[in-house]
Amino acid sequence: MIEFLKVTKEYDNGTLALDEVDVKIENGEFVFLVGSSGAGKTTMTKLLMREENVTSGEIYLYGEDITKISQKEIPYLRRKMGVVFQDFRLLDDRTVFENVEFAMRIVGATRREIRRRVPVVLNMVGLNYKAKMRPSELSGGEQQRVALARALVNNPSLLIADEPTGNLNPKVAMEIMDIFENINKMGTTIIMATHAKEIVDVMKKRVIEIEDGKIVRDEVGGEYHVKPVEA
Ligand code: ADP
Repeated sequence: MIEFLKVTKEYDNGTLALDEVDVKIENGEFVFLVGSSGAGKTTMTKLLMREENVTSGEIYLYGEDITKISQKEIPYLRRKMGVVFQDFRLLDDRTVFENVEFAMRIVGATRREIRRRVPVVLNMVGLNYKAKMRPSELSGGEQQRVALARALVNNPSLLIADEPTGNLNPKVAMEIMDIFENINKMGTTIIMATHAKEIVDVMKKRVIEIEDGKIVRDEVGGEYHVKPVEA
């Protein structure tokens, strides 16, 4: 369903972030992207969302080369994916419910659909009882749950997560990963860039390791073991 074919990304300043990357990810897979800082993980996710454009190569999503779609089509592309980030990116002048609702409004959902669906996803992340609170009144783990609910509310077939546990303590991080696991079991493909060794080692998923813009390892049921940075 997702296929990178000889994908190269060189940023305007000449940095080669990805160097002829080939990778294929099937529907329903759970993939960890690992690698040192600057390896190219975020660039891969940004190319998938068309936040950046490839320098060369092709990226197929459900058979369509998304490097070729027009600016106008990008919002439709993004509806197929939910995204969560390390820093949650919630709106603090809105309640938990409204933050999730916002994502449905953007895609033109009716009030009735919103009333039905938002509690369902808040329930999935265990936060229904905090629907009326503001993000600033929540713990980091709870804020990430809200972000996850927002990412899932439109039922995307793909969830992209960039360091989603980077701001969370290990216990809370594992709780968030349980939710990821459940979401994956329901059929959503997950691509998660992470430095969380303990999570990758425990979860035994497919691990794609990137180094200097190249895939250096692709292992099902793999562990983290990214080379420690030499002092
Ligand atoms: P990772 O997510 O693995 O830390 P990134 O994909 O963010 O790596 O970055 C890969 C390389 O591209 C790094 O050398 C980084 O400095 C560079 N890079 C990322 N974004 C930009 C940008 N907007 N302009 C120039 N260079 C960038």
